[in-house]
Amino acid sequence: MVGGGIGGLSAAFALSRLGLKVRVLERAKEFGEVGAGLQIAPNCTRILDDYGLLEEAKSRGVVPDRMVMRDAVDGEELTALDLRDLEREYGFPYMVIHRSDLHALLLEACRDAGVELCTEQGVVAYGQDADKATVTTESGTVHEAAVVIAADGLHSVARTLLVDDEPVSSAYVAYRGTVAVAEVDRPIDLSEVVVYVGPRCHFVHYGLRGGALLNQVAVFQSPKALAGQEDWGTPDELDAAFAGTTDIVRQSLPHMWRDKWWRMYDRDPIDTWVQGRIALLGDAAHPPLQYMAQGAIMAIEDGWVLAEHAKRLRGPDGGIDWAATLSAYEAVRPEHCRRVLTTAREWGELWHLDGFERVQRNALLRARDIDDYSFTDWIYGPTALFPEDEPPMFEPVPLSSADRITDEPVHMT
Ligand code: FAD
Repeated sequence: MVGGGIGGLSAAFALSRLGLKVRVLERAKEFGEVGAGLQIAPNCTRILDDYGLLEEAKSRGVVPDRMVMRDAVDGEELTALDLRDLEREYGFPYMVIHRSDLHALLLEACRDAGVELCTEQGVVAYGQDADKATVTTESGTVHEAAVVIAADGLHSVARTLLVDDEPVSSAYVAYRGTVAVAEVDRPIDLSEVVVYVGPRCHFVHYGLRGGALLNQVAVFQSPKALAGQEDWGTPDELDAAFAGTTDIVRQSLPHMWRDKWWRMYDRDPIDTWVQGRIALLGDAAHPPLQYMAQGAIMAIEDGWVLAEHAKRLRGPDGGIDWAATLSAYEAVRPEHCRRVLTTAREWGELWHLDGFERVQRNALLRARDIDDYSFTDWIYGPTALFPEDEPPMFEPVPLSSADRITDEPVHMT
C-alpha cells in the first residue's frame, strides 16, 4: 500500500482482515492528518460497522440529529435531513468526526491487525513483471509485493502510469477552524450539521469530539484566482467574500484559522484505475470537490470493495486471484466515483448561485419533501460490489396522466 491517509489505512486494514501480509509505505515522517472535521454518511458507517470500528468512531465523534441547509444571506432554512430518520432508512448513522480521530482509529486498527507501517518512504517509481509489482522510494529502497495499491492522494505518482492529467482548479478556497465550544460567543446547536449556502461562498459548522469542539469551514470563490494571480485565497479575500452574509456567519469568521487555507482542486473522472498489478485507490483515483462530503468515504468504500473481491476470489490454498480481484474492483468503482465527482461539481454550482437563480434555487429547496430519499439512495445505500448492484441516481417519479407531456400543441387563448 502506498500512502497512509484514510484511504490507504482503511484498505490496509480491510486486506489484513483476510490474513494477508500488508505493508503501508507513507512519505511523511509520521502518520497523521491535517484539517478538521469529516462527515461520515451511512454508506461508510455501514463499512465501519463491518470492520467492528463503528462504536469507537461514534464515541470519538458526534451523531447529530439534523442536517440543515440555510441561505447564507438571510439565514433562512431552505431544507433539512432528519438524520435519525435517515439512520432508520439506511440502517446506519450519519456521523461527524475529527479527521485525525478517524485516522488514529484506523492506524490503531492496522497496528492491532499486524499491518507493517513504514514512514519516510516516499515512492517515486513503480515497476512490475509477470510475478510481482515493485516500488522504489526516494532513498532507493525497492519493495516488492503481489500487488501495489496506490493511495497517494491528489498528486499521485501512480496515477501518471494511467493518465496524463492535472488537478483542475475550481478557483474556490477553504478556510477551516476548530474552536472549543466553551469559547464560542454565540448560541450554537450541536445537534445540527449546518451549511449556509450563498453567492460564490458557503459556510459549514458542526460539533466534534462528543460536542467539545466546533468545526467550521468557510469556502469561497477567489477573485484573484479568476484573475490568474498567484497569491489567491488570502484572508482579505475571505472577509470580502462573506461581507454580505448573515450575522451568524460573519461572527464565525474570526474563529477560522487564518494562517492557512486549502485551494480546492479535483480531477476529471477516469475509468482505468488498474495497470497489471498496480491499482489506484482514494483521492489518487478520484479526488472530488468536497460538496458531496464523500471523498474519504469513497476511499473507504474502495478498500472494502477490493477486500470483498479478494475474499471471494481466494483459492483453497489461500492464494488470491489478483487479476480477477483488481478487474472486479475496476468494474464497479470508477462509475460510482465518476457520478460523485460530477455531481459534486454541479452541487457546488447550485450552492453558490446569486441573483434570480438563487431565488429559484431557494424556492425549489423549500418545496422539497424532507422525507423523500429518492435522491440519496444511490449515495447512502449499500456500497455496490458489482456494476448491476449500483442503484440508479434517483428513481424517476411516474407522472400522473394529467402531468404527462403529449405531442398535442398547446393552445393559447
Ligand atoms: P490523502 O488523504 O491525500 O492521503 C494520501 C497519503 O499518501 C498521505 O498520507 C500522503 O502523505 C501520502 N503520500 C503522498 N504521496 C506519496 C508517495 N509518493 N509515497 C508515499 N506516500 C505518499 N470527505 C468525506 O468523506 N467527508 C467530508 O466531510 C469531507 N470534507 C472535506 C472537506 C474539505 C475542505 C476537503 C478539502 C476535503 C474533504 N473531504 C471529505 C475529502 C477527503 O478529505 C479526502 O477525499 C480524503 O482524505 C482522501 O484520502 P486519501 O487517503 O485517498 O488521500
